[in-house]
Amino acid sequence: MSLTVVGTMAFDEIETPFGKSGKIIGGSATYIAWAASNFVQPINQVSVVGEDFPKAEMDALSAKGVALDGVQIKEGEKSFYWSGKYHMDMNTRDSLVTDLNVLADFQPVIPETYQGSEFLILGNLTPQVQMSVLDQLKERPRLIVMDTMNFWMEVALEDLLKVLKRVDVLMVNDGEARQLSGEYSLVKAARKILEMGPKYLIIKKGEHGALLFCDNHVFFAPAMPLDEVYDPTGAGDTFAGGFIGHLARTKDISFENMKTAIIVGSAMASFCVEKFGTERIRQVTKGEIAARIEQFVQLVNFDIDLV
Ligand code: AMP
Repeated sequence: MSLTVVGTMAFDEIETPFGKSGKIIGGSATYIAWAASNFVQPINQVSVVGEDFPKAEMDALSAKGVALDGVQIKEGEKSFYWSGKYHMDMNTRDSLVTDLNVLADFQPVIPETYQGSEFLILGNLTPQVQMSVLDQLKERPRLIVMDTMNFWMEVALEDLLKVLKRVDVLMVNDGEARQLSGEYSLVKAARKILEMGPKYLIIKKGEHGALLFCDNHVFFAPAMPLDEVYDPTGAGDTFAGGFIGHLARTKDISFENMKTAIIVGSAMASFCVEKFGTERIRQVTKGEIAARIEQFVQLVNFDIDLV
């Protein structure tokens, strides 16, 4: 079973009410790979970095079963750089700097060894790159999941809408769902977005959990109430990694199993926010993951006796 992950590998600089991270490793594909590799290996990584990207990070990912043949290293160029600042509620943030650098003219090349991958996740990056990856696949994967963000809705909406027509699952946060659909009600927003192409829509609501929509069905999973949320950066990507990692491991893409995958994704995201950047998810053990999933089951498990 293999999973292809497309996205950014980056340097981030984050400011939260608890402190400043300094320059650390980030990127959508980085978080997805760290999360998903707990469930399925190999991960076929597709990304681009500059010569400034640390070899130690590449080695650490390799050791986690992440194949890097599809990660281009551009000599003399700089990696994608993003900095963001969280507001007091930790649910909202401002992007301070987005320096595309190597991403500006990234032409992904899918290695022959990645062909035939049954699961594909198009992590957050330019819709043109997401489209190019789809065009290069000789066989359509069984499931294609796509993530995106408001930035691409603002600068590349037309391309984004074309990619949407070719994917099975779209993941966005509540603000992005409203922006994409022009609807305030998330139920109406979901209806409109499902008409744009994907069969399933996941709307992430930060500390308020996530919703899964398909036809007229909807499923809700809460987020784990935590003592401290230290840094929410990457929580969405870590959620995505847990979600698709679970589906790829179980090879079951039914709506019922997607509900479980949402719980797995939520459990993974709950680790991510406990420390800055990827610090926590790169250390998490299988035992800790199983225990956190069990806590989720307890969190939402109740009996009702109506008589
Ligand atoms: P999340 O908090 O899940 O939205 O993901 C944060 C990660 O997304 C950071 O590590 C950034 O490097 C990366 N990121 C920020 N802006 C963009 C963008 N416009 N395109 C792709 N990745 C981005």
